[in-house]
Amino acid sequence: MSKMIEFLNDEAKKNEIELSDIQLGRFQVYYDLLIETNKFLNLTAITEMHEVVLKHFIDSMMISKFYDLSDCSIIDIGTGAGFPGIPLAILYPDSEFVLLDSLQKRLTFIDQVLKTCRIENVSLIHGRAEDFAHDKMYREQFDFCVSRAVAALPTLLELCIPFVKVGGLFVSYKSESVSEELENAKNAMELLFCKFNRLDKYEISDLNINRVYISFEKRKELSKKYPRQAGKPKKNPL
Ligand code: SAM
Repeated sequence: MSKMIEFLNDEAKKNEIELSDIQLGRFQVYYDLLIETNKFLNLTAITEMHEVVLKHFIDSMMISKFYDLSDCSIIDIGTGAGFPGIPLAILYPDSEFVLLDSLQKRLTFIDQVLKTCRIENVSLIHGRAEDFAHDKMYREQFDFCVSRAVAALPTLLELCIPFVKVGGLFVSYKSESVSEELENAKNAMELLFCKFNRLDKYEISDLNINRVYISFEKRKELSKKYPRQAGKPKKNPL
């Protein structure tokens, strides 16, 4: 067992997350490819082994403490190098994942991870959330939407809520200082027919970093005018 796998397994167990040998093997391949590919492609600023495990792998999976993501459909908006989508797809092999990003190079990396690890519950979309949210195949089709480090809440709600089924949840991975963003998101929440659901905090072990998961429930089908055209949600948030 590599030092990385030993550490990941210990940290997962501490948080009562059980990973099988097959799942741990997939994390090993993902880790090796991430570190190797990052030498020539900008995937992550975090490369030290313990930090990759805590800030990428464990952080992505800790949502499982607060939500049951088994047997459902989940879209990850702005997945980058696959966070949180790939760790979640490894953790929940019976759920179906779609990972979307506008940067093809990062998706090519993820595709290599999927093939090498034989992960079969993930599909990839290359494009802007603003465009694919109007595609019938994806609009209002998902039980959950997740997103980490993509935009502030007023923008993020417009990018993410359109993908969620009525009654489904959008869960945003945030840092502690989310209260101002939440305050600024009131208008977006009203226009996008979603309501605050819950907020959960946890501390990344030994690093003194507090993370927050904040979720919104989609109440009604949206007006077709949302999301607005690409770029607008960021430039001129609701
Ligand atoms: N979620 C990953 C993580 O936590 O490591 C990546 C975060 S990275 C800072 C933001 C990613 O969001 C980038 O890969 C970028 O291409 C993508 N992104 C930003 N706006 C987007 C949009 N409107 N549609 C699709 N992808 C977007």
